[in-house]
Amino acid sequence: MLKEATFKGGVHPPEFKSATSDKAIKPLGVPSRVILHLQQHIGAPLKAVVSVDDQVAAGQVLAEPTGFVSVPLHSSISGKVVAVEPYPHPSGVSLPAIVVESDGEDKWAKTAKGAKKYSDLSADELRKIVQQAGIVGLGGAAFPTHVKLSPPPGKPIDTFILNGAECEPWLTTDYRQMLERSKDLITGVKIVMRILEAERALVAVERNKPEAIEVMDRLCRDELNFDVVPLKTKYPQGGEKQLIQAVAGRQVPSGGLPMDVGCVVHNVSTVLSIFDAVAKGRPLTEKVVTVAGDDLRKAGNYRVRVGMTVRELLEKVGGKLPDGLSKVIMGGPMMGLALPDLDVPVLKSTNGLVLMAGQVPVSRHRPCLRCGSCVDSCPIHLMPCELALLAENMRFDSCREYSVKDCIECGSCSYTCPSGRNLVQLIRFAKYTVMEQDRRKKA
Ligand code: SF4
Ligand code: SF4
Repeated sequence: MLKEATFKGGVHPPEFKSATSDKAIKPLGVPSRVILHLQQHIGAPLKAVVSVDDQVAAGQVLAEPTGFVSVPLHSSISGKVVAVEPYPHPSGVSLPAIVVESDGEDKWAKTAKGAKKYSDLSADELRKIVQQAGIVGLGGAAFPTHVKLSPPPGKPIDTFILNGAECEPWLTTDYRQMLERSKDLITGVKIVMRILEAERALVAVERNKPEAIEVMDRLCRDELNFDVVPLKTKYPQGGEKQLIQAVAGRQVPSGGLPMDVGCVVHNVSTVLSIFDAVAKGRPLTEKVVTVAGDDLRKAGNYRVRVGMTVRELLEKVGGKLPDGLSKVIMGGPMMGLALPDLDVPVLKSTNGLVLMAGQVPVSRHRPCLRCGSCVDSCPIHLMPCELALLAENMRFDSCREYSVKDCIECGSCSYTCPSGRNLVQLIRFAKYTVMEQDRRKKA
């Protein structure tokens, strides 16, 4: 039996994985139109390079990056550009987007073809392919992947960690891909290791996915420098810092990055996108999305074109929308966003849609009992109760001193609080206020 790795803190929400864990990934085909927001990742904004009435092919670049920490945006279907204007985003605000109406032909741009043998390419050539394919971290953070694959001189990477934790309840996209595309995944890891010149790969999978551990273990046995590390099933086991602590025994310093301790982490979907870009010449235009929750007729894992609206997706997988549908969460229930309406699109970072029917319970924000549960559950070892009180009183300098910027917004503190306090919301508010203050000071 392989040893089980973990970190200190965290919580154990119900997993609900069985609703979709045995559902093979089904392609959903070509949507009638796609809404492609220019801001799909952390970093420099994009500049649109198409106009209304232009005909575009799938895989064609629609918007180009304006800086190093940025990636291009590709059309996910062929058709006509019908709008370049602000459009509702899943976060609830309107942001610039390019809307393409399908011509039903699904024609692909020539530039999107051209498979390459990764071992014939240098690290720089591979990095360039990853950047040009528009790949960002697909576990939710959406940070441009080529940047994480470009450690500065003096920061050698010895360990690459494949994040197969998928610790959010309901979601099973990485699990299904580990089963269905295991060989591609191992090749993807080798591509990443070539880029980073990493000596070893650790394949980290939560213990609640025994079939995935078995498949990965079988394939990794033939690889000298690969190890499979089963993880304790606990949230947020898939957080980068928690994962590094658990499998490599290294502590990322406050305000630091995984590369400060010789590690880089990418999740399963991101590594498969790297494989698709290098081995198949395909840019990032599709996502695997788990649809689960209270309306189980729709439960499943679907391959979806980026930009498809949530409404069209749900109608395609389950016919008419149920009357009792009260909330749809994009992402998992711990870190996801409750959607303002269903006419917002699937983003590159979307990995799940959790449907909630009937009355959604709302907890009342009551005074703190000083029970300490939030402190015990915080994986970063912060003081959530204190931070929330400071945020309520607008004492942002004190929040900075209490390391509010290290909060990963995992929601473990809110989940565990018996007083139903809005801890993560208050701490997030303080974190972004402090970050904005720091940015202005620097500017
Ligand atoms: S303070 Fe931040 S990191 Fe700590 S449990 Fe709460 S949300 Fe998670
Ligand atoms: S868990 Fe809630 S009640 Fe307990 S100390 Fe933290 S904020 Fe206070």
